[in-house]
Amino acid sequence: MARQREKDSTSDYRTLNISALKCKNLLRSGASFQWEWWRRGEKVASIGIAIESLHSMRLRYQSRSRGREPTQHDYPVTITWTPCHLGGERPWLLCPCCGRRVAKLYSGSVFACRYCLRLNYPCQQASKRDRALDRTWTLRRKLSCDDGPFDYPAEYIQRPKGMHRKTFARRIEQLSRIEEQAMTNMVTAMQKLGIRITGISL
Ligand SMILES: [Zn+2]
Repeated sequence: MARQREKDSTSDYRTLNISALKCKNLLRSGASFQWEWWRRGEKVASIGIAIESLHSMRLRYQSRSRGREPTQHDYPVTITWTPCHLGGERPWLLCPCCGRRVAKLYSGSVFACRYCLRLNYPCQQASKRDRALDRTWTLRRKLSCDDGPFDYPAEYIQRPKGMHRKTFARRIEQLSRIEEQAMTNMVTAMQKLGIRITGISL
């Protein structure tokens, strides 16, 4: 019998990635469109998104659990922006459940962050003993950052209040180095397992 996974992995869920919307130039006030998820050439789901302003978007969709009447969902998700090092601004979403600032939300019955849905990334399951990845989380906690390397790159982390500049610079440098190693380990582990992260395609 296959061993049951402890937690669902993020690739099992439909992802709403704010950067993907920005890349497709959809983050325009007043824009209204369907966002679709496809698998093997078949549309598996879609939701309606209305960009009410650059700081709020409304999600409209229907969810259906087995044997129950469909439920209509219609709720706003807050968008926030942070400056990029190379100019311009980067958009983020605030999780409707916990308010965390994240790059991606995942669909349960509502869209929420991976903390709320208690998701593991496939790489964490693939390489549980990956020390580099463990150290990443320890270092991030020291830098008062709850988000992982996928959601929040090291260069965006702000210096925590009271932390000396030199200490901060050293930790960021250390973190970037370790995360590079963790990424390499992750790719190797995933290749061994034949796992491929599939993104959304339109
Ligand atoms: Zn959350």
